[in-house]
Amino acid sequence: MDYDAIIIGAGISGLYQLLRLRELGLRVRVLEAGTGVGGTWYWNRYPGARFDSESYSYGYSFSQEILDEWHWTEHFSPQPETLKYLNYVADKFDLRRDIQFKSRVAAAHYKDATRSWEVTLENGERLRARWLITAIGLLSAPTMPQIPGVESFKGQSCHTARWPHEPVNFAGKRVAVVGTGATGVQTIQEVAKTAGSLTVFQRTPNWCAPLHNARIGEDEMREIRTRYPEIFQRCLETFACFLHTPDPRKAVKVTEAEREALWEKLYANRGFGMWQGNFRDILVDRKANALVSDFMARKIRQRVKDPRVAEKLIPKNHGFGTRRVPLETKYYEVYNQPNVSLVDIKETPIERITPTGVKTSAAEHAFDMIIYATGFDAITGAFDQIDIRGAGGLGLKDKWQGGPKTYLGVLVEDFPNMLMLMGPHTALGNIPRSIEYSVEWVTGLIRHARDHGLTRIEATAAGVADWTDHVKALGEGLLSNEIDSWMTGINRNIEGKDTRIVARYSGSAPAYRARCDAVAAGGYSDLALS
Ligand SMILES: Cc1cc2nc3c(=O)[nH]c(=O)nc-3n(C[C@H](O)[C@H](O)[C@H](O)COP(=O)(O)OP(=O)(O)OC[C@H]3O[C@@H](n4cnc5c(N)ncnc54)[C@H](O)[C@@H]3O)c2cc1C
Repeated sequence: MDYDAIIIGAGISGLYQLLRLRELGLRVRVLEAGTGVGGTWYWNRYPGARFDSESYSYGYSFSQEILDEWHWTEHFSPQPETLKYLNYVADKFDLRRDIQFKSRVAAAHYKDATRSWEVTLENGERLRARWLITAIGLLSAPTMPQIPGVESFKGQSCHTARWPHEPVNFAGKRVAVVGTGATGVQTIQEVAKTAGSLTVFQRTPNWCAPLHNARIGEDEMREIRTRYPEIFQRCLETFACFLHTPDPRKAVKVTEAEREALWEKLYANRGFGMWQGNFRDILVDRKANALVSDFMARKIRQRVKDPRVAEKLIPKNHGFGTRRVPLETKYYEVYNQPNVSLVDIKETPIERITPTGVKTSAAEHAFDMIIYATGFDAITGAFDQIDIRGAGGLGLKDKWQGGPKTYLGVLVEDFPNMLMLMGPHTALGNIPRSIEYSVEWVTGLIRHARDHGLTRIEATAAGVADWTDHVKALGEGLLSNEIDSWMTGINRNIEGKDTRIVARYSGSAPAYRARCDAVAAGGYSDLALS
């Protein structure tokens, strides 16, 4: 056996898992496709990329030294700073010596004879280990739009998650942005500042809420450091590990004045409050959802001068909060600028990309640059890109036909010794908080195996059926599960991703942790261990 454990991915999950397994005394190898650490923050270098989680609630919490030393300079850290932070963490714990970069994993096959995984890289190199830990990210497999002619464009073009490492200058250029999800919104509001002209191609508008970012000076950072225990405690207690948590009241039970008061307050406050800190019925009660959607629509109408453009920017096919809410900084005002125009591609579809630009059913637009903010094959995409085969040679992709089936979002029946970090059916929310918990849980399980001389860990059919049913039941009644989005497994740019699935655990993070803690406390008796 070459290693005790192979971890795929050197993002926030992979880095922390490496540290913990190293502390257990394991020989660990991390395989990473990129040339550096950071995962999401290594790849997504597009203009305006930043957190929507408050920086100090997003960073690692496990090391007092990191908390004491690191200064977040903004409430919502921009990508270059976050990448610097993750490099600082990698250096501090000397992580790089166990990470192999430029190493994309093409296949991982389980071998029952040796109870180990054989991992093959794209360049043919093979490595073996007892434990295989996937830390491959839930938003790490970018998707390009299915538009003919994409390759024919003669200008510069780029997906936001494959952005060049060199600075890109937009001054005087005719730029197109395709896509208006969370990434598109961040890109558009930044590019509009300097581009000669910016044309936004929008299929589905999203309900965006203000970010209200601000700088953090020395004094404020000192004050934040004193509050770290309180900040992380709050993240432990809230539904989705954010600083925000739903208001216990129902929108439909309070007066109009009370509703407006909370909404005005949330709209004026920082971060995900409008989404995560709203009345508790807005994501389950159609009437409550219609009321809050109406409030958000009024805001858009107030902020966008041309009423026709405002109407195009107001979502009609989903209510507020039922898809991932992009946070914005003067996004709507961008459409008041003379250099910005909006093309609704439901009205005038894109027919093809041409050597000089974009041809819609109504016109030909010439561009110097096309930016594809077309998102990711979310949650299961990075798994689908690896030929993962379990006991008996069964493919994971086949196993997950019709939707993923997991035990606690960590294990899969017939795939012994494979442990997933941030896989399907696990608690997400403010993700690093969930990552730290999952890494600790996986480390506990591997420690248990080591202490008891166990070399094979597998989920049982009953355990998987029970957890998968539980996850499905939790999703019932949620308005978000009635909407097409990456959270329900829909991606029109990928063949076969046109049927809604339950890929996401939508219960509370505390309930998720309680369940996992109980499994550990019970000696993992729900698992098949030998
Ligand atoms: C633009 C953007 C903004 C976001 N903002 C927030 C936010 O505000 N708050 C929040 O909580 N979350 C946010 N997220 C989600 C974010 O992905 C997580 O917070 C977090 O970074 C996940 O870390 P990870 O290590 O699990 O995965 P990732 O950071 O995705 O890292 C996975 C790594 O695995 C590697 N990999 C994948 N497949 C292979 C393979 N086959 N072989 C080798 N290597 C492979 C990838 O190269 C990548 O480096 C955002 C995501 C994006 C894309």
